[in-house]
Amino acid sequence: MTTLATTSTVPAVAAREILRRRTFAIISHPDAGKTTLTEKLLLYGGAIGLAGSVTSKKEKQSTSSDWMDMEKERGISVSSTVLQFDYKDYCVNLLDTPGHHDFSEDTYRVLSAVDAAIMVIDAGKGIQAQTLKLFDVCRKRGVPIFVFINKMDRPSRPPLELIDELETVLKLAPAPVNWPLGDGPRFRGVFDRQKGQVNLFEKTAHGAFKAPLSVAGIEDDQVREAMDDDIYEAVTQEIEMLDGLTEPLDIEQVLAGEQMPIYFGSAMNNFGVQNMLESFLELAPAPAGRVNGGEMVSPNTDNFSGFVFKIQANMNPRHRDRAVFVRIVSGIFERDMQVVDQRTGKKVRLSNAQKLFGQDRETLDIAYAGDILALVGNYDFLIGDTLTTDSKVVYNEMPRFTPECFAYILNNDTAGIKRYRSGMAQLMKEGVAQAYRVHGSSQAVPMLGAVGPLQFEVLQARLLSEYKVETRVESPPWSVVQWFKENEPDTARKAQDPPKVNLTSGCVLAQDQDGNWVVLLNSKYLVSFVKDRNEHLTFR
Ligand code: GDP
Repeated sequence: MTTLATTSTVPAVAAREILRRRTFAIISHPDAGKTTLTEKLLLYGGAIGLAGSVTSKKEKQSTSSDWMDMEKERGISVSSTVLQFDYKDYCVNLLDTPGHHDFSEDTYRVLSAVDAAIMVIDAGKGIQAQTLKLFDVCRKRGVPIFVFINKMDRPSRPPLELIDELETVLKLAPAPVNWPLGDGPRFRGVFDRQKGQVNLFEKTAHGAFKAPLSVAGIEDDQVREAMDDDIYEAVTQEIEMLDGLTEPLDIEQVLAGEQMPIYFGSAMNNFGVQNMLESFLELAPAPAGRVNGGEMVSPNTDNFSGFVFKIQANMNPRHRDRAVFVRIVSGIFERDMQVVDQRTGKKVRLSNAQKLFGQDRETLDIAYAGDILALVGNYDFLIGDTLTTDSKVVYNEMPRFTPECFAYILNNDTAGIKRYRSGMAQLMKEGVAQAYRVHGSSQAVPMLGAVGPLQFEVLQARLLSEYKVETRVESPPWSVVQWFKENEPDTARKAQDPPKVNLTSGCVLAQDQDGNWVVLLNSKYLVSFVKDRNEHLTFR
């Protein structure tokens, strides 16, 4: 891929600002410690007030019904959609990924806006289902992964087994940056393989900002005395073996998505967090460009460009407002600047970009490539829209995901029909689900499709809490959707008329929200049967 030749680039001051930015997300299976780690990172960034808001967000939501407590959830995803803080020379943009068991398109979209990800793994559990799914998304997007193996203060699986599992399952070369000295009650610290030093761990009272840290060589008496003989033996052997078992850390390979730096620690005890943060900031990439028509737009391009990756309505229950989140790909954002929404061709003035700070907000005057804008107000943007001052740039960062669940969400309360309609319209704009129209169906409302069933529960809960409408779910029989193209398009056919398709019982024709024709099937076993009967079509 070539870098788009540009005649003008941002001024040197802005180029330095862009270079010091690190935009990333923390991903994990629920309960592995994402929230705890986020909170500790914020403490290092001096954002103490915010750290509190992240903790209080979670009086533990391990079930979907807890997650449905929308008010609680509101406080969470709002204040932590994006957190910005300075640490040493870096400007850190930390994006929150929804942390529930079910998987939604929202998560995919947030990952389209980052340049790196920290994957938190529970040392007692290793890779879990959600970790793997999130990892897959990162890999598909070429996002470099850093691994934090958390909860070393609890009985953990043998570290060699953990890195072996990471390598086998993720198919990435592991590069342990440090190595744990024991685990559970016998956890004594980590050996920093880069510096050849031991960081000794002393347990602190809960919530202490920093775990006290003393540094020594592995041979030092202090280290030997701190550890039981059997553990000392085992650990020193492992450290020696590691040099043969793993490749040295290589930044090029990390950025190419071939190697993952691995850190051991305990987020709750704030042990290993600062070391990881510093190493991460040094190794993680500065803001990357994005592809426009086969060419890479550099972040330093003078023209402003960005894409919408998330929309959230009703962030503040007292004001019906909406925040549109934009990842800046290139250039500089300045308050009141005018951009074009490439989907509509309309010029829009960006006068109300805000910095969200827990419950507080501050108007943003300037931002750079790599930053996330939260545009608050009545902007008529949709997810995936490109906003730019360069008429030639259009990003295509938002893939449509294949839904696996379908439902009708029907209004239960005739008096609330208006609220139902406006709620549905708003939530569909946010991309909570996809809409389909079954051909010939008498159903007045569209059928919805989602990657996971929780998306429907969220939709219902939000309709109830934000629009005061009760709904019920009706499940159609479909479980598979297949897009297709006619090999020889019938140019005389009008877009709203269905193409000729030989169907059988168990499948129907439908249109997606962009008007494309699809086949819905009630079983994946029917797919090849339908394909065989329709050789004049190409299925995707
Ligand atoms: P999330 O669901 O991934 O955001 O996980 P949380 O950060 O909420 O952590 C889940 C639970 O694990 C909480 O009870 C935390 O207090 C606990 N926890 C997190 N980090 C550690 C750690 O390093 N050691 C121990 N023992 N518990 C931890």
